[in-house]
Amino acid sequence: MSTKRDYYEILGVSKEASESELKKAYRKLAMKFHPDKNKEPDAEEKFKEISEAYAVLSDSDKRAQYDRFGHEGIDNRYSTEDIFRTADFGGFEDIFGGMFGDVFDVFFGGGGRRRRSRPAKGSDLRYDLSISLKDAAFGTDTTINVPRSETCDVCGGSGAKPGTNPVTCKTCHGSGQISQARATPFGRFVTTNTCSTCQGKGQIIESPCLSCRGTGKLKKVRKISVKVPPGADTGMRLRVSGEGEAGSQGSPSGDLYVVIHVQPHNLFERIGDDIVCEIPINFTQAALGAEVMVQTLYGKVKMHVPEGTQTHSVFRLKGKGMPHMHGHGKGDQHVRVIVKTPTNLMPEQKRLLKELESQSSADKPHSKKNGRGIFEKVKSAFDV
Ligand SMILES: [Zn+2]
Ligand SMILES: [Zn+2]
Repeated sequence: MSTKRDYYEILGVSKEASESELKKAYRKLAMKFHPDKNKEPDAEEKFKEISEAYAVLSDSDKRAQYDRFGHEGIDNRYSTEDIFRTADFGGFEDIFGGMFGDVFDVFFGGGGRRRRSRPAKGSDLRYDLSISLKDAAFGTDTTINVPRSETCDVCGGSGAKPGTNPVTCKTCHGSGQISQARATPFGRFVTTNTCSTCQGKGQIIESPCLSCRGTGKLKKVRKISVKVPPGADTGMRLRVSGEGEAGSQGSPSGDLYVVIHVQPHNLFERIGDDIVCEIPINFTQAALGAEVMVQTLYGKVKMHVPEGTQTHSVFRLKGKGMPHMHGHGKGDQHVRVIVKTPTNLMPEQKRLLKELESQSSADKPHSKKNGRGIFEKVKSAFDV
């Protein structure tokens, strides 16, 4: 739902207000809140609000749309810019005429016009960098080859043959733009178009540089070193300032964004800053307990498996996960033990397991002690 105020309410008129009533109401409010006249901090907001209300209600199609569907009927169909571009502000020349240069500056912060006249900064580039989990854990310094356009070093980016200079475009007098002022009731609209003689460059190259054929840029593959911090994860973007495409006519280069992709590891699964892995243990280790060696990102460590461990139990190795990117410390490693049931038993092994089986179902008070004894035999039979 829209949080905007009702347009009729904004203008202080009834829903049945005639065209002339709307005009009258708008004139009164526009005079009062015009930002050139009214220096109250919210005058500009107010002025926009009443102008938008008038722009909609003075257009019979938009008014009908608004009466039926409210703000959503308008907002879903028109941008604010659309509303003003098609609005008829006929009869308000006295309010707008000459009061401020470009009405769009008030409504759209001048972006519509000034954006085009800014020198073209070079484009940003994206480079996808694949790294191993280990490099992500420890961080890595690497060099990447980035194809990009650079300022031509023969002509310094001017595009003109050394010893010659580009001449100022006579059509646009060097601005690169042709502006046409159009007086409208809503003020003076300035339409700005790129100069077609010089394609917006403002200059004409009469003898082009042979190296870059007058473009001022050359395609090059540049080696760029990148520092991947410890704890980097897939999707992380590293910004390398000023290493994107060259800008035109000496304006700044774009930036290079290196997007990290951490390759899957054959042992470790990463979940946030934690590492999960599985290790197989045999059933005597599970039953009797054991010290087992576990691979971590930081080398092998000894892990205690207590006696009576069930398959799929998870043990935590604190601080053996990925380094935290924000703050100190590391995640943990979670080790899931998988108990392997033996296959292809030797006759002696089978005999011992059968003995174990018969003792397990024997008298409870003695079973533990006896079971321990037989387990020791089983253990040595299975060469643990
Ligand atoms: Zn050149
Ligand atoms: Zn020109």
